[in-house]
Amino acid sequence: MTVSDIKALLQQEGLTPNKALGQNFLVDEAAALRIAEASGAAEYPVLEIGPGLGALTEMLLRISPHVAAVEIDAAMVRVLQKRFGKNGNFSLLHEDFLKTDLAAMLPLQEGCTVAANLPYYVTTPICLKLLTSVLPIKSMALMLQKEAADRFFAQPSSRQYGPLSVLARYYYDVSPLMSLSPQSYYPQPEVDSSVILLTRKKDAALLPLLPRALDAAFAMRRKTMLNNVKAAGFSKEETETLLAEAGIPPSARAEALPTEAFVRLAGAWEKSIHS
Ligand code: SAM
Repeated sequence: MTVSDIKALLQQEGLTPNKALGQNFLVDEAAALRIAEASGAAEYPVLEIGPGLGALTEMLLRISPHVAAVEIDAAMVRVLQKRFGKNGNFSLLHEDFLKTDLAAMLPLQEGCTVAANLPYYVTTPICLKLLTSVLPIKSMALMLQKEAADRFFAQPSSRQYGPLSVLARYYYDVSPLMSLSPQSYYPQPEVDSSVILLTRKKDAALLPLLPRALDAAFAMRRKTMLNNVKAAGFSKEETETLLAEAGIPPSARAEALPTEAFVRLAGAWEKSIHS
């Protein structure tokens, strides 16, 4: 959709973009097509988060066996139903993606991809939900504010390094796909955006306790691993044993540790539950 398509559709439906819901619509058709293709949607059913007026959705529908979209705004849902409701390969949930039961989205259960121009106000929880989800996600093409994208590439000891960086790089190969200026959206945001591509690593075993280990480790950034992990409900002795098994010095701070340290911690934590 071009900027005039978006403006005309908004006027025809009597709508104005809802800033609180992060509604900056994509008006760069070449970018929309590239994102759709890069997401892997031609090969697998695709989950789209926040389809809005359908700029990316229409490209996904051209190439994908199924587009399962989740949109929070009733006004957008009405427009989407009018535009794509008759497509046999389109399904739409009207709800907050943070509350969506992904295990109940049947078309996605045999393998899927994700494509989204994410609402900026809720980018982190959406990404964490995707990174810890049970869905067999093969790849994701995510459009986000440049600062949010930087966190996927952040190295230990940098300000942006945190649970998101660790989870993303443990489960996925992460690469930049493209940068977009505010002119690619209507209305124009105040910041630049990036599209990143995540491709699932074949050898990354599921670590159910990795998110909990990361939550604990990063709970207070200035505190030591001993204090942070202990605060998750262990005695001092239990915490020392866990950290020793994971090869992590008790005085270390999470922000300085590499991905492998958290992987070992999640493994030791899991073992402690079963012993
Ligand atoms: N995909 C469209 C595009 O590229 O033009 C719209 C992208 S816009 C940045 C974000 C969209 O996410 C909006 O349509 C907004 O209503 C929707 N949204 C915001 N919060 C949401 C949530 N919690 N769950 C689902 N959709 C949400």
